[in-house]
This record gives sequence, structure tokens and C-alpha cells, in this order.
Amino acid sequence: MLLDQYQRIANYLRIGVTDRCNLRCRYCMPEQGIDFAHRNDLLSYEEITRLAQIFRGLGVEKVRLTGGEPFVRKGIDQLIQQLCSIFPKVHITTNATLLDGYIEALKDMGVASLNISIDSLDRERFFSITRRDDYIRVMQNIQACLDAELSIKLNIVVMKGINDMELVDFIEFGMNKGVEVRFIEAMPFNEVDGNKDVFMPCQDIEAHIKANYPSMNILPSDGPSSSNLYQIGAYRFGIIPAYSRSLCGQCNRIRLTPKGEFLTCLYAKKGLNLLELLRNEGYNNDMIREAIVQQVQGKLKSGFDEEAKREERIFNSMTTIGG
Ligand code: SAM
Ligand code: SF4
Repeated sequence: MLLDQYQRIANYLRIGVTDRCNLRCRYCMPEQGIDFAHRNDLLSYEEITRLAQIFRGLGVEKVRLTGGEPFVRKGIDQLIQQLCSIFPKVHITTNATLLDGYIEALKDMGVASLNISIDSLDRERFFSITRRDDYIRVMQNIQACLDAELSIKLNIVVMKGINDMELVDFIEFGMNKGVEVRFIEAMPFNEVDGNKDVFMPCQDIEAHIKANYPSMNILPSDGPSSSNLYQIGAYRFGIIPAYSRSLCGQCNRIRLTPKGEFLTCLYAKKGLNLLELLRNEGYNNDMIREAIVQQVQGKLKSGFDEEAKREERIFNSMTTIGG
């Protein structure tokens, strides 16, 4: 079992499989893209699978594939199949633009659920946020997942003055479709504007929804979760305090970046370079396992403590870490 110095169990691994993406969401990536990793600097599928087996041996039960956009990486279905044979729970976070043709296969492989990112229910606003006109495709793929009974949740990054006028629309949409929505605080990951001007804190999102649904209840946490949970009638939804970081005390997450850096916190300054260890013949699996155990033990109490150790405060793009 992976335990940190504050007795938190790390049993949920997020794997960033690529830093590339076919969208350019304004809070995530600059219009011109970023300095994308070269192929040789990315973990290969064989390397990810080798690490997956080591992490499984250390008690990790749940993985989430993320990126960049996981479905832009060639042959991703083969990796998903491998991971489904190693972990009890495999989840994927995706922008859903490229899901066509994969949905039945994901279900057959046993993928537990997809988190689909969609920041507007209005085509023009979707375009202005993502800088791509893919709204119709995303909506079609959301419906196709529902028709196939593949479990999904919707992720919405909330930006003041940009899409906060749609909070209630998203709740209504979620209620009508029977899909949980999760509103995410925008983090300062984007070298262009740092998302500061549009930041809307968790409490403001909550207050706005409460004003429209006075019967809204706050639910107690149901185990380690990145999200505050709420209920309106029988409908549940969440708000993720990604920037406020009020849920660090129950964090069970660890991360593998596309370039093989192992991070114990989204805000960590520097991780353990697992790609280097994997490609060093002097390192066997036992030695890599020990290095992972040590790294997890050193996890700090909160994302604020981790951030305080950083020299630079604004990151290039979330895609280099795996959101
Ligand atoms: N491309 C996939 C997608 O968009 O779902 C997976 C990768 S994306 C980096 C993972 C999640 O991080 C998405 O839900 C996205 O909205 C969120 N995200 C990206 N940049 C963010 C930021 N600056 N603040 C908050 N959430 C962010
Ligand atoms: Fe791409 Fe996801 Fe970032 Fe949007 S949030 S640019 S879809 S990686």
C-alpha cells in the first residue's frame, strides 16, 4: 500500500498519455499550442504498462487516462485494453470530440466511466472557449454514450463572465439526461492570462446555484473525492475546488505525466523521473517500486505547501501534467 507521511493512502493514479490536443481551450492551452513533447520523450505504451503493473502491486485500484486529449494518441484503445486487465477501475477524461467508433469498444473492455469536458451548451460560446467548432460532435457523442449506457459525468470549467451564466442550464441538462455535472474552479494554468480575470471561487458557484434552487443540500463526502457534493431533489452534482484546494486532507491521487514524471500533487514543483529509471538498465522493478514508495512518503500536507516550493507560479499548460 502507498502511504504518505500524513497517513493518506494513494490508490488512484492519473496517467497523462499525451500533451497534444485537438482543441485549444482558453483556460488550458494557448492558441498556438505549446512546445509539445517529442515522441521519444513520451512514455511508450509498453513503459506505461510496466509501470501500471508496479503501481497495481502497490495497491493502486483506480486509474484515469487523461492528457492532452487521450484519443489523439494512436492506438490508445490497445493501452486501455491493457489497463482494464490490470486495474479494477479504469476511467478516462476526454473532450469527446474523437469518441466516434470507440464507444461500444470502451464498454466491452469494461471502462468504468468517462468524464466528458464541455464548457458550454451554446455552439458559439463553445467555439469561443475551445477555439474549435466541435460542439455538434461532442453533443452527438454524449448522446451516443448515454444510448450505449456507458457511464459518464460532465466537467465544466467555470469562468466568470464567460460561461457562469450557464450554471443553471447545465444543472437542468444534467437532470434531464440523468448525468452528474461537476463544476471546476479555473486554475492558473495558461501562460496567456493565468485565468485570473475569470476566476470564480467555489463558494460563488455554490451561492449562484443555491439562489436558483433554494432546496439545494450539501452532501457529506463519500470517501476520498476531489469534489464537494450537492443534491437538488434526487439529483446530485459536484463542485471541484481545484484552486481553493480545500480537499487536500483526503487526497488519494498520484500522477504520471506524459513524459514519465511521477507527481504526488498537481501543484508539486518537481517529480520523480520514472522515464529515466525505466530506460536505465541498472534499475529493476523492485528499485523503481522503492523509488515510488519514497516519493509518495514525501507528499506534503496540501497543494498550498507544494506550491510554496515552486519558483514559478504559472504553469505552461495543464496538458503537460495531465489534468
Ligand atoms: N482533453 C481532455 C479533456 O479536456 O477532458 C483531458 C485533459 S484536460 C487537461 C482534463 C481536465 O482538466 C478537463 O476537464 C479540463 O477542463 C480541465 N482543465 C484544464 N485546464 C484547466 C484549468 N486551467 N483549470 C481547471 N481545469 C482545467
Ligand atoms: Fe484539450 Fe482538454 Fe486542454 Fe481543452 S482542456 S485544450 S480539450 S487538453
